[in-house]
Amino acid sequence: MPPSHFEHSRTPGADAAAALPLRLLLRFADAACEQRFLRHYVAFYFRFAQVSLWLGVVLVAGDFLVDRIAFGASDANLLRLTMATPVLVVGLAYSLLPGARRHWQPVMAGFVVTVAACLFAILVRIDAEGGTGLKSWVGVLNFTFLEFYCFVILGVQFRHALAAGVAILAAFQYALWVRAGLSPEHAAYWTYHVVTVFLLAAGIGWWREFLLRKEFTARVALDDSRVAAEQRALHLAHYDEVTGLPNRRLFAERALPVLQRSRRSGVGCALLHLEIDRFSGVNDAYGRGEGDAVLAGIAQRLRACIRSGDLAAANPATEEPGVLARLGDHAFSILIADLDSQQPASLVAQRLLAAVAQPVVVGAHPLVLSASIGISIFPGDAQDLPGLARCAEQAARAAGDAGGAQQRFFDEALNARARERVVLEAELRHAIQAGQLCLHYQPKVDARSGRLVGAEALVRWQHPQRGLLPPGSFIALAEESGLISPLTDWVLHAACSSLRRWADRGLYALPLSVNLAASSLADARLLDQLGSLMRQYRLRPSSLMLELTETMLMRDVTAAADLLGRLSAAGFGLSLDDFGTGYSSLSHLKRLPMNELKIDRAFVTDVARGGRDGALAAAIITLGGELGLQVVAEGVETEEQAAFLIGRGCVLQQGYLYSRPVPQAAFEKLLEAGATRAAEVCRPA
Ligand code: C2E
Ligand code: CA
Ligand code: CA
Repeated sequence: MPPSHFEHSRTPGADAAAALPLRLLLRFADAACEQRFLRHYVAFYFRFAQVSLWLGVVLVAGDFLVDRIAFGASDANLLRLTMATPVLVVGLAYSLLPGARRHWQPVMAGFVVTVAACLFAILVRIDAEGGTGLKSWVGVLNFTFLEFYCFVILGVQFRHALAAGVAILAAFQYALWVRAGLSPEHAAYWTYHVVTVFLLAAGIGWWREFLLRKEFTARVALDDSRVAAEQRALHLAHYDEVTGLPNRRLFAERALPVLQRSRRSGVGCALLHLEIDRFSGVNDAYGRGEGDAVLAGIAQRLRACIRSGDLAAANPATEEPGVLARLGDHAFSILIADLDSQQPASLVAQRLLAAVAQPVVVGAHPLVLSASIGISIFPGDAQDLPGLARCAEQAARAAGDAGGAQQRFFDEALNARARERVVLEAELRHAIQAGQLCLHYQPKVDARSGRLVGAEALVRWQHPQRGLLPPGSFIALAEESGLISPLTDWVLHAACSSLRRWADRGLYALPLSVNLAASSLADARLLDQLGSLMRQYRLRPSSLMLELTETMLMRDVTAAADLLGRLSAAGFGLSLDDFGTGYSSLSHLKRLPMNELKIDRAFVTDVARGGRDGALAAAIITLGGELGLQVVAEGVETEEQAAFLIGRGCVLQQGYLYSRPVPQAAFEKLLEAGATRAAEVCRPA
């Protein structure tokens, strides 16, 4: 995730404020922070000032009434009203002006001083008329309380309040000492009172604003952390955490304007769906952490790929050229604008494929990955993003099914195939219950003597319309649609029932291998289920050999080792199927209690030519021997292959050379040829 994304969420002002919150005169050390404080509180102060001015009008009017009731009508009393009230009203009117907010604080302070000066002039005038204005203690206290009031209430920012307070204090001192005609002792006495009230008011004013500012810094810190959290949440909601790329949601948001533009301009665009081939193998073998690191590296390459060259102008609205996103575990999408033919899209796809094919280092091992890319074109293939995505995904799946490391354009045939899959799934669901499945058996032989040493049960689907379907056309579908579990149950039952039948007929007894699916390993019932099958069909566990592939086991080696340990302790045979095609390491292999290792057909195919596969097959045979496993070669088709393997010490073989998988009846004929050791697979009665 780009670190720059969060930087702007922290204002420098708030940081500086946290470091040095306040100066003595109540200002934040940092100007930006001070601005923020004022912006934050100005409305509050403003309302305060307006209310205070109203209060001032009420107080002055009240004062007039009280004076009138106590002393009767007098000119001086009326003067107080007529001098002070207009000043307060002008202040109120000013506060209503649109521009008032900018300079309202010094202006309000000015009003306060003016009001004070008016009242002070009035009190002096009262004295001049022979009344008891400033000369009475009531008059002086009146005045000092006004000062207090001005200071604390109207002194919205301490600095301005202080200025106003000092001005009032000075005017008052002038009146006491020069104008009021008091004796020095009296003047000193009243001065003492006035200064005391001034200090008290200043203290309260200062403290009030200090608390306000303290509260503000706390609030700023809180706000900032909330903003940061919100931004992070926003980021998480829109970006993939592993690669920093936009996720599906942001992809859709960004793709929308691109499609709209394309619709208006009539120039098409292309959606590329890229899936890393067999990526779960990397996760299984090296762990999620390493897998994520690989994906992040690949994402960076893809980004560089679409940045360099002809896509840079594709999406000026965002910083990303084109729109690149991570949509799934190991799937990426790229939308490229302004593509009017297939050829440029194909060039981009080639570039992406080349980028993925660069070796990556995983856990200190160099690893070469490949990708399958599906391409759909707007508006030809679909009219909207979901449609385009579906087409591109289908095309990518087709590219993957064809072996990966290639690109495919979407075509209608693919669409038809996808629909066909849906139909097939429904039919398979039905087939399991309707008894349309059957097992074929392929012998496992000792290549030197041709003697039967075992067999593998391979499932077939006798489809009412399509005929006999090989497992390749429905096992993957069953795995994806959750039908694999009932299917495996069926296979296990059928295999055990065959073993029982052969034993009952006194046929040659041999262990029968059954292929398990990855999900069977995760099924907690497996051991119990097998146990009850053994009881139901009265079989020894050793008559059943469970075939598992490396990739299945490597998903969670610890859990697999635990389950296999229990299966092995129960007496079931364990075989590692398709060996050599996964990513498992020797150290892992050693932890698993295997009995058998099957060399994948891929290594057997050209062993006789002595190429790299020949060397690998030889190495696997040696390895299996050293680990104490029985090694079986799969897919042996020619005498040369058989001879080569025997020469390397691998005598157990399986393949068309000896027999194709055959239906039950045909296989029983093979068994009859050596029906001697039936007692071994049966429990003693
Ligand atoms: P697999 O376990 O590797 O099974 C061996 C496959 O190789 C079988 O294909 C078999 O017919 C084929 N084969 C054997 N000898 C030769 C040979 O000499 N040359 C060639 N070219 N092929 C040979 P099949 O029966 O189509 O099964 C394909 C895969 O389907 C199996 O591969 C296995 O992974 C899966 N499968 C089959 N039955 C079941 C089942 O009951 N349950 C599960 N989960 N998977 C099954
Ligand atoms: Ca197998
Ligand atoms: Ca195999």
